[in-house]
Amino acid sequence: MSVIIDESCITCDACLQNCPVNAIVDDGQNPTGENCYYVQPEKCVECVDIYDDPQCAAICPSIGCITWDMPFTQEFEEHFVSADIYALATTKDGVLKSPAYREKKYRKDIPLTQRGVKHVVQEEPEDLEVG
Ligand code: SF4
Ligand code: SF4
Repeated sequence: MSVIIDESCITCDACLQNCPVNAIVDDGQNPTGENCYYVQPEKCVECVDIYDDPQCAAICPSIGCITWDMPFTQEFEEHFVSADIYALATTKDGVLKSPAYREKKYRKDIPLTQRGVKHVVQEEPEDLEVG
Protein backbone atom coordinates (compact mmCIF):
# COMPACT_ATOMS: atom_id res chain seq x y z
CA MET A 1 0.00 0.00 0.00
CA SER A 2 -0.61 2.37 -0.43
CA VAL A 3 -4.01 3.66 0.34
CA ILE A 4 -6.54 2.40 2.82
CA ILE A 5 -10.34 2.57 2.97
CA ASP A 6 -11.91 3.19 6.37
CA GLU A 7 -15.33 2.57 7.90
CA SER A 8 -16.80 5.75 6.40
CA CYS A 9 -17.04 3.84 3.11
CA ILE A 10 -20.64 3.84 1.88
CA THR A 11 -20.07 0.76 -0.35
CA CYS A 12 -20.97 2.64 -3.54
CA ASP A 13 -18.65 0.51 -5.74
CA ALA A 14 -17.14 3.49 -7.61
CA CYS A 15 -13.54 2.84 -6.56
CA LEU A 16 -13.66 -0.83 -7.44
CA GLN A 17 -14.76 0.07 -10.96
CA ASN A 18 -12.01 2.70 -11.22
CA CYS A 19 -8.92 0.80 -10.02
CA PRO A 20 -6.60 0.05 -12.95
CA VAL A 21 -5.04 -3.01 -11.29
CA ASN A 22 -8.12 -4.58 -9.66
CA ALA A 23 -6.69 -4.07 -6.19
CA ILE A 24 -10.06 -3.37 -4.52
CA VAL A 25 -12.60 -5.88 -3.25
CA ASP A 26 -16.13 -5.19 -2.00
CA ASP A 27 -17.42 -5.49 1.55
CA GLY A 28 -18.55 -9.05 0.92
CA GLN A 29 -15.01 -10.05 -0.05
CA ASN A 30 -13.18 -7.95 2.54
CA PRO A 31 -10.73 -10.43 4.09
CA THR A 32 -10.65 -8.55 7.39
CA GLY A 33 -14.40 -8.98 7.87
CA GLU A 34 -15.03 -5.24 8.10
CA ASN A 35 -18.19 -3.89 6.48
CA CYS A 36 -16.42 -1.69 3.92
CA TYR A 37 -14.50 -1.99 0.69
CA TYR A 38 -10.86 -3.06 1.01
CA VAL A 39 -7.67 -2.21 -0.88
CA GLN A 40 -5.40 -5.22 -1.20
CA PRO A 41 -2.02 -3.67 -0.38
CA GLU A 42 -0.22 -6.51 -2.13
CA LYS A 43 -1.84 -5.35 -5.39
CA CYS A 44 -2.14 -1.56 -5.07
CA VAL A 45 0.50 0.49 -6.93
CA GLU A 46 -0.89 3.90 -5.90
CA CYS A 47 -1.68 4.30 -9.64
CA VAL A 48 2.02 5.04 -10.28
CA ASP A 49 2.89 5.12 -14.01
CA ILE A 50 -0.81 4.81 -14.88
CA TYR A 51 -2.50 7.99 -13.59
CA ASP A 52 -1.41 11.24 -11.98
CA ASP A 53 -3.14 10.38 -8.71
CA PRO A 54 -4.98 7.48 -7.06
CA GLN A 55 -8.13 6.93 -9.06
CA CYS A 56 -10.03 5.30 -6.20
CA ALA A 57 -9.77 8.47 -4.12
CA ALA A 58 -10.41 10.66 -7.16
CA ILE A 59 -13.87 9.19 -7.56
CA CYS A 60 -14.82 8.35 -3.96
CA PRO A 61 -17.87 10.38 -2.82
CA SER A 62 -17.12 9.81 0.86
CA ILE A 63 -14.41 12.43 1.40
CA GLY A 64 -11.79 11.33 3.88
CA CYS A 65 -12.60 7.66 3.47
CA ILE A 66 -9.36 6.88 1.61
CA THR A 67 -6.08 7.79 3.30
CA TRP A 68 -2.38 7.15 2.72
CA ASP A 69 -0.71 4.21 4.35
CA MET A 70 2.91 3.12 4.35
CA PRO A 71 4.70 2.12 1.15
CA PHE A 72 4.41 -1.60 0.46
CA THR A 73 8.16 -2.13 0.84
CA GLN A 74 10.32 -4.39 2.96
CA GLU A 75 10.99 -1.54 5.34
CA PHE A 76 7.35 -1.88 6.41
CA GLU A 77 7.11 -5.66 6.33
CA GLU A 78 6.08 -5.89 9.96
CA HIS A 79 3.35 -3.29 9.52
CA PHE A 80 1.63 -5.21 6.75
CA VAL A 81 2.11 -8.64 8.26
CA SER A 82 0.99 -7.89 11.80
CA ALA A 83 -1.66 -5.16 11.57
CA ASP A 84 -5.21 -6.48 11.98
CA ILE A 85 -6.41 -3.99 9.37
CA TYR A 86 -4.83 -6.25 6.73
CA ALA A 87 -5.19 -9.83 5.63
CA LEU A 88 -2.62 -10.46 2.93
CA ALA A 89 -3.24 -13.10 0.29
CA THR A 90 -1.01 -16.13 -0.16
CA THR A 91 0.38 -17.85 -3.24
CA LYS A 92 -0.77 -21.32 -4.31
CA ASP A 93 2.14 -22.65 -2.29
CA GLY A 94 1.05 -20.82 0.81
CA VAL A 95 3.65 -18.08 0.71
CA LEU A 96 2.38 -14.82 2.20
CA LYS A 97 2.32 -12.01 -0.37
CA SER A 98 4.03 -9.57 1.97
CA PRO A 99 6.50 -6.88 0.90
CA ALA A 100 9.31 -9.42 1.38
CA TYR A 101 7.66 -11.52 -1.30
CA ARG A 102 7.15 -8.62 -3.70
CA GLU A 103 7.34 -4.88 -3.15
CA LYS A 104 4.90 -2.56 -4.93
CA LYS A 105 5.34 0.87 -6.47
CA TYR A 106 4.40 3.86 -4.36
CA ARG A 107 4.35 7.65 -4.68
CA LYS A 108 7.71 8.94 -3.54
CA ASP A 109 6.35 12.49 -3.38
CA ILE A 110 4.11 11.52 -0.46
CA PRO A 111 6.32 11.79 2.64
CA LEU A 112 6.27 9.19 5.40
CA THR A 113 4.96 11.87 7.76
CA GLN A 114 1.70 11.82 5.78
CA ARG A 115 1.43 8.03 5.79
CA GLY A 116 -0.27 5.86 8.37
CA VAL A 117 -1.82 8.89 10.04
CA LYS A 118 -5.15 9.02 8.16
CA HIS A 119 -3.94 11.77 5.85
CA VAL A 120 -6.63 12.15 3.19
CA VAL A 121 -5.58 11.21 -0.34
CA GLN A 122 -8.02 13.58 -2.01
CA GLU A 123 -9.94 16.46 -0.42
CA GLU A 124 -12.54 16.79 -3.18
CA PRO A 125 -13.78 14.34 -5.81
CA GLU A 126 -12.61 15.15 -9.31
CA ASP A 127 -14.85 15.58 -12.30
CA LEU A 128 -13.65 12.46 -14.01
CA GLU A 129 -14.51 11.96 -17.62
CA VAL A 130 -16.81 9.05 -18.14
CA GLY A 131 -16.71 6.81 -21.16
S1 SF4 B 1 -4.42 3.85 -5.51
FE1 SF4 B 1 -4.79 3.15 -7.63
S2 SF4 B 1 -3.96 1.06 -7.66
FE2 SF4 B 1 -4.29 1.60 -5.49
S3 SF4 B 1 -6.35 0.88 -4.99
FE3 SF4 B 1 -6.52 3.03 -5.60
S4 SF4 B 1 -7.03 2.95 -7.79
FE4 SF4 B 1 -6.19 0.93 -7.23
S1 SF4 C 1 -15.67 4.86 -3.73
FE1 SF4 C 1 -15.39 5.32 -1.54
S2 SF4 C 1 -17.43 5.05 -0.61
FE2 SF4 C 1 -17.47 4.06 -2.64
S3 SF4 C 1 -16.96 1.90 -2.24
FE3 SF4 C 1 -15.03 2.95 -2.70
S4 SF4 C 1 -14.20 3.62 -0.74
FE4 SF4 C 1 -16.35 3.08 -0.42
